[in-house]
Amino acid sequence: MTLPLDGTLQDNQPDLPRFSDLPLRAELLAAVEELGYTHPSPIQAESIAPLVEGRDLLGQAATGTGKTAAFALPMLERLAEQRPERARGEAPFGLILAPTRELALQVSEAVSRYGARLGARVLTVYGGAPVGPQWKALQNGVDVVVATPGRAIDLMNRGALRLDDLEIVVLDEADEMLDMGFVEDIETLLDATPDTRQAVLFSATMPRRIEILAQKYLREPVTVRIRREAVAEGEAPKVRQTAYLVPRTHTTAALGRILEAERPAAAIVFCRTRLDVDAVTEMLTARGLRAEALHGGMDQEHRTRVVERLRSGRTELLVATDVAARGLDIDLLTHVVNHDVPQSSEAYVHRIGRVGRAGREGVAITLVPPSKVHALRAVERLTGQPIAFAAVPTAADLRAARLDRTAAALRERLIADLDPDAADPDATPVDPDGVRAMLAGLTAEFDAVDVAAAAIRLMQEAAGSPEDGEDIPVVSMPRSGGPRESRGRGGAAGTRPPKAGTTRLFVNAGRASGVRPQDIVGALANESNLSGRDIGAIQIHERHALVEIPEHAADDVLRSLRGSTTLKGRRANVRRDRGFAGAAAGGSRARRD
Ligand code: AMP
Repeated sequence: MTLPLDGTLQDNQPDLPRFSDLPLRAELLAAVEELGYTHPSPIQAESIAPLVEGRDLLGQAATGTGKTAAFALPMLERLAEQRPERARGEAPFGLILAPTRELALQVSEAVSRYGARLGARVLTVYGGAPVGPQWKALQNGVDVVVATPGRAIDLMNRGALRLDDLEIVVLDEADEMLDMGFVEDIETLLDATPDTRQAVLFSATMPRRIEILAQKYLREPVTVRIRREAVAEGEAPKVRQTAYLVPRTHTTAALGRILEAERPAAAIVFCRTRLDVDAVTEMLTARGLRAEALHGGMDQEHRTRVVERLRSGRTELLVATDVAARGLDIDLLTHVVNHDVPQSSEAYVHRIGRVGRAGREGVAITLVPPSKVHALRAVERLTGQPIAFAAVPTAADLRAARLDRTAAALRERLIADLDPDAADPDATPVDPDGVRAMLAGLTAEFDAVDVAAAAIRLMQEAAGSPEDGEDIPVVSMPRSGGPRESRGRGGAAGTRPPKAGTTRLFVNAGRASGVRPQDIVGALANESNLSGRDIGAIQIHERHALVEIPEHAADDVLRSLRGSTTLKGRRANVRRDRGFAGAAAGGSRARRD
């Protein structure tokens, strides 16, 4: 059975499960009622009772299915049951691990809201923020900790996060956490929890790695699987998926045209790096579209404001990196746009899962260079749904569309200005602002149509509509559809220069401090916008480590790290490797620091 989640449910559907049928106490039922949830979603209907019983659970469900309440409500119910026996101020009762600070904050807000009547003490801890206040809050006693894995490890190593008395651990978006290189951290944290604890694992996809993790850490779990789109049985998912084949060099220009033609009401545009985010935001703004950037280099408050503006319709485009937008749940999203083909098919599915929800229409747009067509084909195989290729609007198409919009606006204005009550249609129209008198002067001198044409051109120039004179070259589909080059992490030889297009960072901590490659991947992925896949060869030496990252992302990464990162609970300096600072593709010399 599938249920929509977006409030379209009617109370007069008697066979639907009800919250009051679930083993939840009055305070929790009151909280969900206050939030306007009329019925439990499928994942909630299936998960809540076994979780309250204390069973482990393996759930396949993405954002938007109601999975947060599915694990948070039972956790709070069990907290309330056991609280009389647990002294306040003891070690945390529940730990929820989430891949990013955005998701951690979102989950934490939900748990706080559901648990407000029970006085549940909820704390969010994540990398990139000062450790001190988080450490202090833990000392004061917390019931539920929502954490990103890197920071959880850090706080555990400092003795601030005690897991020895934990009752419940939840891995939220486990596939994302593994993708970000957190597997070792997660295992370390799980190993530090008592054998008796309840374990819950939610993941949007179920790759083999997740199954292995589940086999290792879950005991006879209940399994629940929910498709993201809550569409009626047999109805096709309502996401129109379109791809545009464009040369890599023209991606941003093509994107501007496509969005101008599509005019989405609310869209997220995904870019690979922060630099791309800034460039794309600037270009879209120059085209007169309301676009705002969202990336890890912005402070939390700013990010929250930007997301709020999209939610409330004050902006129409959010240009974001994957990491910054991960887990965001924006109800009214109409379009998901991929400025670049996502790194994996699962990432594509994650992204487009944000639209076309609860039976609404959604659009997914992907810009594809010829070398990435094979990646899109892989997505088609994974989802079993075709992705249609369309042509980028030409300059002439856009001009025609702009004129259509101007004509429609003028027509609307002309009709609005007609005065239906005017007693005498031949009477001289009123002219309070003198526009008519000015036109009378001009039309005595010039043809009236020429005057109107000049007025419209002036208006278009003032609106900043860019010239789209240069056409975007048409590229043909690669015959094999196969990748042009492959890359792998590979073990690097000690002194060879980094691969073209990549640069090497120097980290002043190594084997002697117990640093492992996964620690470096975790630190970089947690504190910058890189994903695990962006990170190339890592060499761990006795007292230092070298890590290859894409050259185009290097400045951005260094800026967000501000020169250091936490590895194994200690600060380590990070800078460009002086030996090979200038090895970017095309021989451009990188700055030396
Ligand atoms: P999640 O999948 O946990 O990210 O939740 C997606 C959205 O659905 C959130 O905005 C929740 O507040 C909302 N939600 C969760 N459960 C329900 C429900 N039973 N009825 C209506 N909305 C819900």
